[in-house]
Amino acid sequence: MLEDASTDRRKFLKYGAAGMAIASTTHVALARRDGINVSSEPEELAVDVVSDVDVVVVGGGTAGTVAAIQAGRAGAKTLLLERSGQLGGMTTVGGVCYPGLFDAWGKQIIAGIGWELVKESVELDGGKLPNFSRVPARHFQNQVVVNQHVYSILAEEKCVQAGVEIAYHEFIHEAKPTATGWELFCVGFGTRRTVRCKQIVDCTGGAEIAGMLGFERMREDETQPGSYLFQLGGTYDVGRKQLHQIYVHGADSTNSRTVTEAKLAGRQLVLKKLRAAQGEKRLMHLQPEPGFRESYRIVGETMVTVNDYRNGRKFKDAVCNAYYPVDLHTKTGVRPQQLKPGTIPTVPRGALIPKGSKNLQVAGRCLSSDRLANSGLRVQAPCMAMGQAAAAGAALAAKAGITPGAVPLEKLYALLREHGAVIPGEEAAAKEPEVSY
Ligand SMILES: Cc1cc2nc3c(=O)[nH]c(=O)nc-3n(C[C@H](O)[C@H](O)[C@H](O)COP(=O)(O)OP(=O)(O)OC[C@H]3O[C@@H](n4cnc5c(N)ncnc54)[C@H](O)[C@@H]3O)c2cc1C
Repeated sequence: MLEDASTDRRKFLKYGAAGMAIASTTHVALARRDGINVSSEPEELAVDVVSDVDVVVVGGGTAGTVAAIQAGRAGAKTLLLERSGQLGGMTTVGGVCYPGLFDAWGKQIIAGIGWELVKESVELDGGKLPNFSRVPARHFQNQVVVNQHVYSILAEEKCVQAGVEIAYHEFIHEAKPTATGWELFCVGFGTRRTVRCKQIVDCTGGAEIAGMLGFERMREDETQPGSYLFQLGGTYDVGRKQLHQIYVHGADSTNSRTVTEAKLAGRQLVLKKLRAAQGEKRLMHLQPEPGFRESYRIVGETMVTVNDYRNGRKFKDAVCNAYYPVDLHTKTGVRPQQLKPGTIPTVPRGALIPKGSKNLQVAGRCLSSDRLANSGLRVQAPCMAMGQAAAAGAALAAKAGITPGAVPLEKLYALLREHGAVIPGEEAAAKEPEVSY
């Protein structure tokens, strides 16, 4: 029975928890039928949200999660935009839940917020941490296996505690510079967000925002294969062992169409394996996303070359260490090329700054580096350390009203030390971060 019917056109402003203005225009045709609200248009079909923040981190993956926590803890009003529905990126959604390498040659070379997250995830999950004072026979033996579910919810909690506003299922469709930073136009389902911010840290894996803003990016014609992670037969002992992997050649994370293609192709390969098992093995686990090894990298103020990487060049503006073999996957597999004993490569701040840009940095696998250097730098511990360094720079730059490249290195180092990061050359001083919310 129709109880009441009205067309209600409202325009109003609401204020969210973080003081964010929510301007929503709703056109709601209301009716009540048999005690149920019925409308011809979903209520709040298009809510316009306005966010005024210091730092926007785009991409809540391996690097971006750490970046957002660092920016928030440094006192910057921080918004984290993540187009999927959880934090961790390749570490969790991709199922590559064995971050490495925090150590080299018997000592810890990367610590800080990434290490805090990894360590707490393992402890909470009753797992075991490697002993970094021992140099393992094979480099990957000191990677830390984490429970991907624990990792992503712990990361979420740490963001919230650091005062970071998380916006899942949103991405930027337009961005433009302003006198004091950036204006960004974002969309999510049911949400249109305008963001005014001073600094952007692009942690999208493929430098998508740098590309959108017209800064140069590079990528070879052929990229490393992606991989789909799954468990066929047995059980997936999450947090204890790695998943099975299958190469997805040509996997390309550039846009929704190429990602869809990679998903379809990867899942078909898994289905083929299942069929080949002829009922003897069950599909016990399948990650929601394929893993992408390589995409666009920025052309930065500084480019890390494979010679820099192999020789462990200590850049004057080094913001973190890295360590992993040169590790390029091809159609036929991978033959890691080990670094000479004692070599610890570094990441310069200039490799995180798109050439000619202001108020913009990247962090993660899209740093400015040649292909072979990138094949080692792309692993998770350096990505986390880059995220922390870029965000610390962004927070300081936002406060001082300058661009991150102009932040005095001593100030940057002081903030990073305060939050537990290892400054290149100070490996022996690695200590637990002092957590302050
Ligand atoms: C199969 C495989 C095996 C690997 N093995 C190892 C290993 O053994 N050890 C190791 O340490 N590393 C390994 N790596 C490398 C490592 O996992 C990745 O290079 C690293 O995690 C990349 O981190 P990132 O932060 O740059 O990107 P990601 O973790 O991919 O994060 C990017 C995030 O940005 C989001 N995003 C993208 N675009 C947008 C947008 N426009 N708006 C909002 N959000 C967006 C994504 O959803 C994602 O959450 C492996 C990688 C793969 C694929």
